[in-house]
Amino acid sequence: MIDFFDAADEIVAASASYVHALDDKSAWSGYVGSGVLAKTMPVSLGGEGLPFSSLVAAVEGLAYGGGDAAILFTMLAQILSVQHPILRFGTDEQKKAFLPPMIRGELRAAHAATEPEAGSDIFGMRTKAVRCPGGYRLTGTKRYITSAPVADVALVFASTDPARKTWGLSAFLVDLNAAGVSRTGNIKKMGLESAQFGGIQFEDCFVASERRLGAEGLGSAIFSSSLDLERSFIMAPAVGLMRRELELSVAEVNDRRQHGRTIGSFQSVSNRIADMALRLEMSRLLIYYAAALRDSARSTKYYSPLVKLALSEFYVASSLDAVRNKGAAGYLLNDPSAINVRDAIGSLFYSGTSDVLRNLIATYVGVNDV
Ligand SMILES: Cc1cc2nc3c(=O)[nH]c(=O)nc-3n(C[C@H](O)[C@H](O)[C@H](O)COP(=O)(O)OP(=O)(O)OC[C@H]3O[C@@H](n4cnc5c(N)ncnc54)[C@H](O)[C@@H]3O)c2cc1C
Repeated sequence: MIDFFDAADEIVAASASYVHALDDKSAWSGYVGSGVLAKTMPVSLGGEGLPFSSLVAAVEGLAYGGGDAAILFTMLAQILSVQHPILRFGTDEQKKAFLPPMIRGELRAAHAATEPEAGSDIFGMRTKAVRCPGGYRLTGTKRYITSAPVADVALVFASTDPARKTWGLSAFLVDLNAAGVSRTGNIKKMGLESAQFGGIQFEDCFVASERRLGAEGLGSAIFSSSLDLERSFIMAPAVGLMRRELELSVAEVNDRRQHGRTIGSFQSVSNRIADMALRLEMSRLLIYYAAALRDSARSTKYYSPLVKLALSEFYVASSLDAVRNKGAAGYLLNDPSAINVRDAIGSLFYSGTSDVLRNLIATYVGVNDV
């Protein structure tokens, strides 16, 4: 069902052809040429019409080839949590207006759900959209939003009917330069440095009815569908990064000598390498299996939390192992392994924390009252 060899070929091709385009680590525009934003979008809208396995392989290749994990993360966030929801739930007019410029990298998009009182308890969000002539008036605060300081548009979740709670949520495509919108500048984080991050405030902001995505009350279904995609594929860069870390770590433990021997000859060090290899292969099996399910139109509802949970925890564990193998050299601020650890820790939170994913998985396998 899954052709790993084809995917592997694509990875090698991807890393070979993109590596030179990645010199400018801070520039989103430098990555648009990789075609990542276009991969899974329809040809009729300017995309490449390829399956999700191609997207994962391309991103794995870019990360393996030295691509900036933070930029790849922001691109995946846009693809999975904005472009695909528009493709699935949007009107023809919305698809034509938003997707071609997003695919070309000219229109940047954020996905704004999290609020001060609504993190893991996301359906506790308080942002409201009150009907008015021609549309809605939006009021509320979103925080921890990827790309918020630089995005042109955001897919914003707000309640159109608070009494109906989860079923009263709706989704809107909001122009972030419109009257009634203010945002923070870039808020510095522990890692994923080139991914801009911030909050958005809506104060009586007018949003036309034509900018509502899907029917009123469909917000939670749109949110759940985009989370399913995110959890399936947002960790794709980690596969390339874990592969790169493994190769570098092997070279380092074969080279570094202590006590008259290479450090790789100490079993506690070589065991770490074996664990890194195991985590890499488990990650590849999980994420390409999720892609195979999605590409053959089967549900990833049970599978996507497993993929996200495993890959984020493996990414943290393998990045730490790479640092351990280096000793103090891996603790230097700008050492690539130290950067990986800081980037990896963010993945324990976005698209559902590990705790929340475990709750879901336990529920799916039949545990009551989780
Ligand atoms: C790098 C990054 C990018 C992000 N990008 C976006 C974005 O683009 N758009 C967006 O909307 N949001 C984004 N987020 C926010 C992210 O979705 C939230 O951080 C996440 O949902 C957790 O919410 P919280 O941070 O408020 O933590 P809380 O929900 O307050 O959780 C705190 C702790 O309590 C635990 N906890 C909470 N509830 C439960 C429970 N029911 N069972 C067990 N444990 C529980 C958590 O696991 C965690 O350990 C981003 C976050 C990060 C770190």
